[in-house]
This record gives sequence, C-alpha cells and structure tokens, in this order.
Amino acid sequence: MLILISDAFDPGLPAKLNKFGEVTSDKSRLPEAEVVLIRSKTKVTSEYMDGAPKLKLVIRGGVGLDNVDLDYAREKGIIVHNTAAASAIAVAELAFTLMMAVTNHIARAHQSMAEGKWLKKELKRTELYGKTLGIVGLGRIGTELAIRAKAFGMTVAAYDPYVKFSEHADLKKTLKALLNISDYVSMHMPLTPETEGLINSDLLKEFKDGAILINTGRGKTIVEEDVATALRSGKLAGFGNDVWYSDPPESTPLREAPNMTMTPHLGASTKENLLRIGEIIEDLIGEYVNGK
Ligand code: NAD
Repeated sequence: MLILISDAFDPGLPAKLNKFGEVTSDKSRLPEAEVVLIRSKTKVTSEYMDGAPKLKLVIRGGVGLDNVDLDYAREKGIIVHNTAAASAIAVAELAFTLMMAVTNHIARAHQSMAEGKWLKKELKRTELYGKTLGIVGLGRIGTELAIRAKAFGMTVAAYDPYVKFSEHADLKKTLKALLNISDYVSMHMPLTPETEGLINSDLLKEFKDGAILINTGRGKTIVEEDVATALRSGKLAGFGNDVWYSDPPESTPLREAPNMTMTPHLGASTKENLLRIGEIIEDLIGEYVNGK
C-alpha cells in the first residue's frame, strides 16, 4: 500500500505510518497511491481522483472539507475523513491572539519601532475586559474561544442556527441580533452555500460602529471588498484575518486596508496540533487496514 503525504504534516509522521506500507511525499506517484493525506493546499477535485485509480482513502488533517469534492469521492467509493477534533485549541488560541493583537495595535507598534518611530501617543489600546464578544458558529472552535474570552471578563454571545443550548455563550436567535451588540465578532463557521459571502455590505451595517472583526473560519465567508470599505470608513475599527480566498491570496483589497492584522492561514499550525493530527491519522489508517 502506498501512502502519499501531499501537504505539510509533522515531520515524524512518515515514521509512524511506515508500518502500514510505503510512505512518500512524491506527488508524481499519485496514480499508485491508495491513501492520500492532505491539509488545505491539495485540492481533491474529480480530475485529481480520476488521476488516482488506486485511491481508497483521503484524510484531511484539519477540519474544513471544502477542498474535497465529496460527492465525486462518494460516487467513486473513496472514503474521506477529517481530523475535526484535533484543531479546536490551536485555532481558538489564534482567534484570541488576533483579538489581542488588533485591540493592542501590536503589528503597528512593532512596525513603527522597527522603523525608528515612537508612537506612544498615537497608539491607544483598548481592553477586552467588559466587552462583548459575538461568536458566529458555536462549534468546537467557537466554544473553546468562548471559554477563553470568559476568563478575560468578556460577555460572550453567539449565533448558530444549529446549536440550541450552550453553557458558554448567550445564544441569539438571529445573526443581526448578535452583530448589534458585539464589540468583537469572531467567525467560526464552515464554508457552505449558506455561509459564502455572508459578511457583506448589507450585514456590515448591523455591526456596532467601531467593532472589530476576526476571521479564522474560511476566507470566502466574507466579501473582502466590502470589509475593506468598512475598515476605510471606520465602521470596523480592525480586522484580524487568518483565512483567504486562496492560499496564498493572489490579490486582496485587505492588504492595503487600514487596521488589518494578517496571518497566513496559521490556525491549525501549532506543533501540538500537528502531533494530535498525526495520532488521529495513524488511528484512521489502522482502522482502514483492519477493516479491509
Ligand atoms: P464545527 O463543525 O465544530 O463548528 C462549526 C459550527 O458552525 C457548527 O456548530 C455549525 O452549526 C455552525 N454553523 C454552520 N452554518 C452556520 C451558519 N450559517 N451560521 C452560524 N453558524 C453556522 O467546526 P470547528 O471545528 O469549530 O471548525 C469551524 C471552522 O473553522 C471549520 O469549518 C473551518 O472552516 C475553520 N477552520 C479554520 C482553521 C484555520 O487554520 N484557520 C483550522 C481549522 C478549522
């Protein structure tokens, strides 16, 4: 059995998987591969699967499966798994880091010091304490963020049409109701036809003036041009963003927009998470081999 590691994983992963068969990262060997391991970079399209006649199992290290054509995989009898439980702490910590970085102007403070400037008077920080955080999508990551925000003395509310109860957040019935009261809005939904382009100029009107937006969910859930306009007008006081229309983004109005704090899709990329993902992958391949 050939296992193709197509994206970046923990360097110790091949040694863990050797017991199941040959492990390679040579993508030209896709036609021989029975198992393919991906993160967000490799796109498992119908053409990709047609080029892999032996493929039986795709494992996405991480959560979002929007880079896999699930219908076509089902048609071809290819099993697809993710490692959903692994990444929640890593992504929640990045969302929290972005909230702290935006509200404390860390990127601008650093850049100005590197340029020999002293912006002590210009850079006015604000505290998270006593502010309201609105979480959009109260799943694993959203819940971990809620727990962290409460520890900082924030009031935590959330909108998630599929969650009926939470001990960690005050659930609002509509997204509008959540946006109307939130000083910070953090996005944690999957990319679906329902969530694509959700944060657009119409919905941005529902944000509090000077609200701060954080997105570690999926880039396409916001309309970048509309968010850039809201940053320029001051409607949004800041935007901490980890996720993009493509990795890396070809061009984005957000690069030039004021009060941006940007990271290159680092949400899942902690050492600890890559180890957790590796352990889950080892279990999933073990189950696959035993069930053959
Ligand atoms: P999850 O499935 O546990 O939670 C997602 C939540 O979104 C669910 O509770 C669901 O009910 C809710 N939801 C679905 N549609 C919604 C809508 N229209 N409005 C509001 N809520 C809606 O998933 P998770 O593990 O918390 O991950 C959430 C997302 O984070 C993933 O889908 C992925 O896109 C993203 N993610 C990003 C990174 C990163 O590196 N930045 C890493 C992992 C996951």
